[in-house]
Amino acid sequence: MKNRELARLINGQNTSDGAGVKLKRIINPQDKLPFDPFILFDEFGSDEPMDYIKGFPEHPHRGFETVTYMLEGAMLHRDHLGNEGHLRKGDVQWMTAAHGILHSEMPEQEDGLLHGFQLWLNLPAKEKMKPPHYKDIAAYNIPVVDLGGGSYLKLIAGQYHDGTGVISGAVQGIATQPIFMDVHFHGAQHLRIPSSSQHTALVYVYKGEITVGTEDDVIQAGQLGQLVNGDNLFFETKELAASFLVLAALPLNEPVVQAGPFVMNTVEEIEQAFRDYRDGTLTLQQPVNDNNQ
Ligand code: FE
Repeated sequence: MKNRELARLINGQNTSDGAGVKLKRIINPQDKLPFDPFILFDEFGSDEPMDYIKGFPEHPHRGFETVTYMLEGAMLHRDHLGNEGHLRKGDVQWMTAAHGILHSEMPEQEDGLLHGFQLWLNLPAKEKMKPPHYKDIAAYNIPVVDLGGGSYLKLIAGQYHDGTGVISGAVQGIATQPIFMDVHFHGAQHLRIPSSSQHTALVYVYKGEITVGTEDDVIQAGQLGQLVNGDNLFFETKELAASFLVLAALPLNEPVVQAGPFVMNTVEEIEQAFRDYRDGTLTLQQPVNDNNQ
């Protein structure tokens, strides 16, 4: 069994989005990097409320899913049919925009701190115009796997094989079969995760540094690595603590046209999305909300 090797290392770029929220853009759709089905990936974080408090006022999405994961602080989500989600420390929001959703994402003050991530995960062509779906997952509903020695991982999506059985993540049934783990190594530690050779596999380090793959390649905080060619994802720390996200999913191998908040397959579909947004028909379908937590 061969460990995947590091093929590409990306440094997040400081930028701002929404109403002036400072963030680090790690996967930028404009770069057209081959991270299919991942479209965009941001880390937002500051202890300075002016960097984020104006948030992301009402805006539309169509054609993909947004996954928001909060490490610190709080975010209030509201959408066009009255769903309200209060995301707090450790919570996840998995929003399938599909046909269309109109929402706002507004940070809330909590000891001045805000830290989290937003991922855009593409949908297959046949699911882009389905009714939207919205789900908040409370931190206590995310399985935690003890890795020993004070190390652990939170299994947001996907499965983890711990030697005795299979642990299923909080989110299931997504076409691209995503794996989304938040891993915390406390001192010297290693982790080997079997992976389908078809999955696109990424790791983003947000605290400390880790070595990956076959050559002891180092990934530092603020860097994203793509791991290719092998059966296992392998991560190691020699001494110091580190925290990182493991992201993997099946590529769609379909054409991608992204413009602003829309991700479709053709330019015509993007133009239709802008027309539907102007006409008010982007949001005509009822979203599905199975939020019961
Ligand atoms: Fe949004």
